[in-house]
Amino acid sequence: MSKTPTYVTPEALKRQEDAIERIAALPGKPQTYHIVTYGCQMNAHDSETLAGMLEGMGMREAQDRLTADLVLFNTCCVRDNAERRALGNVNWLKELRRGNPDLIIGVCGCMVQQPQMAQKILKQYPFIDLAFGTHNVYELPEMLEGLLTSGKRAIHLAEEENQIAEGLPMKRQSAHKAFITIMYGCNNYCSYCIVPYVRGRERSRRMDDILREAEGLLQSGVQEIMLLGQNVNSYGNGTQETFPALLKALDALGVPRIRFMTSHPKDLSDALIDVMASGKHIARHMHLPVQSGSDAILAAMNRHYTREKYMERVASLRRAVPGIGLSTDLIVGFPGETEAQYQDTVSLVEEVGYDSAFTFIYSAREGTAAAKLPGQLPESVTGERIARLIRTVEQGTQRAHASMLGKPEHVLVESISKRDGAMVSGKGSRGITIVLPGSQEDIGKIIPVTITQSAANTLRATRQTEGE
Ligand code: SF4
Repeated sequence: MSKTPTYVTPEALKRQEDAIERIAALPGKPQTYHIVTYGCQMNAHDSETLAGMLEGMGMREAQDRLTADLVLFNTCCVRDNAERRALGNVNWLKELRRGNPDLIIGVCGCMVQQPQMAQKILKQYPFIDLAFGTHNVYELPEMLEGLLTSGKRAIHLAEEENQIAEGLPMKRQSAHKAFITIMYGCNNYCSYCIVPYVRGRERSRRMDDILREAEGLLQSGVQEIMLLGQNVNSYGNGTQETFPALLKALDALGVPRIRFMTSHPKDLSDALIDVMASGKHIARHMHLPVQSGSDAILAAMNRHYTREKYMERVASLRRAVPGIGLSTDLIVGFPGETEAQYQDTVSLVEEVGYDSAFTFIYSAREGTAAAKLPGQLPESVTGERIARLIRTVEQGTQRAHASMLGKPEHVLVESISKRDGAMVSGKGSRGITIVLPGSQEDIGKIIPVTITQSAANTLRATRQTEGE
């Protein structure tokens, strides 16, 4: 069950507001910032909040880290290589600091939230000025003010993980699409995953707050809202505010298109499938991470479903929402995975026929249950397995794309095509990139089309004429 969340107090939020105002009036404050974001969409959305606060201080976004006065790395620790890449980049900035002694370097996000990492930053990275975890994002103004006025290096890691900060400023990346975080944290403790340790226990925002945010976005012309959470299906767990109820209320609000991620298969309820089937604005797409096709590996991963159960949920979804597109996450090389168990994953991918999949080689994370398991596999095995799996995923994508030929779709146009200025591109309801004839005027509109060509990663379409 979810923890009952507490909210950051109005007094604490007011302190940040005041700090933003004081920094804005500070002579010699940094003029530009650059945020480097690693990892998932939750992090991308946190970066929008960080940018919103920095803009409130009168700073402007620099094109790259070379020209910025303040560089912030919003890090991920889900995989070892993401962590190493972030630290490598931070080290590289140390060199830049030699030519620009006023450069401010900050590191935040999941990587910093790990206790051993905070210690490491304190001791081994003395040139990092600001470091704060996922629970302290809202405190950036006070930390930065302390640094600017007294040179005080700020390393903040919340002990109280249970707080939600409402109403922070935000600089959204797109005028047409917006993220709304509906819940934070995760209770599932999949044995390979570090997220519950760095993002904390599940806590859901109030439905009223989410609806108010969505209403504001709708009024500002946003066409698509992506609801975010580590496991959106368990939103409001233990209260009347369930995820199907939230989705239904958002659908009634009239947001043109609603997406959500991520859905844990064990919590994919019939009620949610019903709302998806009856909703007018809910995208025909679900990201449903399966991770493995082997029951033994799923049990070792602590996923709480079997292959049979997963396939039953897929069948129910497809019955209720014809033409729904599915995407997934897959891990190869979980400790002890045999060739036969790996083959179970390959056969499941063939059976489901995903539109797309994120494929990963298992990465041991300190502090997780799986990191202690025997049977960690060598790179020679995992590298070969993932290459074969990617080929299988690609074949499935091609089949899924081909099955859409001649079918109608609706594209939210996002940009002029890079290859052909007379074409525009955007995402269809299933989340697949579609290219169609168009111009600047189409950007931000949802256009009805008919699919005419399929390629490896994209579809081509013609615009539907009236009456079609
Ligand atoms: S559901 Fe599992 S994989 Fe997803 S964030 Fe929670 S623990 Fe990690």
